[in-house]
Amino acid sequence: MKGIPHAVIGASCGLLVAHLTSRQVPVPALPWIDTHGLFVPDPQIISLAILGSLIPDLDAEHSLLKGIAPVLGPMASRLVRETSTVLNLVRPVHNPFRLAIAGDYLIHRGAFHTPVMASLIALIAWKLGLDAFWSMSLFIGYLSHLVSDAPNTLGIAWFWPMYCWPIRLPIRWHSGNNWIEQPLAVLTLACASYYSWS
Ligand SMILES: [Zn+2]
Repeated sequence: MKGIPHAVIGASCGLLVAHLTSRQVPVPALPWIDTHGLFVPDPQIISLAILGSLIPDLDAEHSLLKGIAPVLGPMASRLVRETSTVLNLVRPVHNPFRLAIAGDYLIHRGAFHTPVMASLIALIAWKLGLDAFWSMSLFIGYLSHLVSDAPNTLGIAWFWPMYCWPIRLPIRWHSGNNWIEQPLAVLTLACASYYSWS
């Protein structure tokens, strides 16, 4: 899946987290409307979920996060790709299809596309002082990326590093199929918005 649909699905998860944890913030005063007593989902919760949904693809040569964050993005991507290379040499995500993607097969959709890495990154963020709800939102956003990538033709190594083979779903499509992924992202956002405001 491409970056924008991932971000939209991440935002949907952020909406749900804010709703389920009652993390709402008052609407700031506006000159043309009375906002007294109006609340919206915490934008920080949503931002962290979006960030989480974009982190895994830092292991790809081109990713949305790398493109939109001028200095930090390329630095983070370099760090993630180097780490992914080392981890995948120790516990490689095996997949014969990866052999066809010369040069990148040990890096993209390897260690950074696993629940273990999602947990580890959220835990590190929390230990570094990030609010527990924000860390949870980061984690759920990250997981949403894995779930969204699960129907791609390569699959996801859900149980890495214990079991390294990616699991491929019976229904799957090539990553980046806009005819499927964009409507799916819009539908997810619509459902999350409806649930949050109903
Ligand atoms: Zn991905």
